[in-house]
Amino acid sequence: MIERLCVIGVGLIGGSVARAARACGICGEFIGIDRDPENLVRALALGVIDRGSADVALAAEADFVVIAVPVGAWAAVCADLKAVWSDTAVYTDVGSTKLSVIAGCRAVFGTMPPNFVPGHPIAGAERSGVGAATADLYAGKRVILTPDAETDSGALARASAFWQALGAKVSLMDPAHHDEVLAATSHLPHVLAFTLVHLLGRKDEQGEIFQYAAGGFRDFTRIAASDPDMWLDICLANSEHILSLIGAFGAELAEFANCLEQRDAGRLRHFLSNAREARQRSIERMDN
Ligand code: NAP
Repeated sequence: MIERLCVIGVGLIGGSVARAARACGICGEFIGIDRDPENLVRALALGVIDRGSADVALAAEADFVVIAVPVGAWAAVCADLKAVWSDTAVYTDVGSTKLSVIAGCRAVFGTMPPNFVPGHPIAGAERSGVGAATADLYAGKRVILTPDAETDSGALARASAFWQALGAKVSLMDPAHHDEVLAATSHLPHVLAFTLVHLLGRKDEQGEIFQYAAGGFRDFTRIAASDPDMWLDICLANSEHILSLIGAFGAELAEFANCLEQRDAGRLRHFLSNAREARQRSIERMDN
């Protein structure tokens, strides 16, 4: 049981954490910290939090703290938190990149505080802000925790139990491996969706293109509606892995183009069939 949960950054992800924790009855009180006072008023009105402040000092009252700000804001929030950091509370975060969060933490504290458990829920939406927060966002979804050798085992156990109470399936992963895997499964797909819509949106005939777009276009480009500021931070924080994958993807496109130029139906069929089989295998793995 958590006496007082503090969410720093009461947006889609942080607001959903508070809503889910309230729904499952594991916390006594909910406090929120956000740089935007109007957002706090909204979060109070929606019943997501019980009290709010723009000052991170309020976090000192909590025994469990979830930091849910954009990864680009992490280091500044961490620096503000340092003065009120409690050795008895558990801290976790939700940032989409883990090495940048850990590096920010080390820069501020000189080491990883043992009661900080880095994390990333593999759940979300294209919408932002507390108005989009839901109590069931994490139900059945995976949450990756990336502790290191310095992480206290009790803090890790409490963070795992917290996410499980919210309905999530918890996995542990090395932070560098997390960033490599997520670059492939999340960051590159977002880059591809953003760049495709960017390309088509610049064409003179864009009105006609979008008017006749079918379901496949809608499915493929849904994630290009995601928050640009959040994705700017993620792309910059994980640029090395993303650039490497963009290079590999360019080579795949070049191979496809070469098959077309050669009108090599055998190679093209092989390419398309391989991709289809890989997609089927990936769905089976995702459902497990
Ligand atoms: P969001 O809806 O925009 O919420 C972020 C909140 O943090 C906003 O209210 C924002 O205020 C506030 N904030 C920003 N800088 C702050 C600071 N320095 N101090 C206090 N509050 C601050 O974004 P989100 O989608 O919840 O994403 C939050 C985190 O979750 C990010 O690290 C992201 O990488 C991660 N994540 C997102 C998803 C997803 O699908 N959205 C999935 C998994 C993980 P302003 O509105 O004033 O900026």
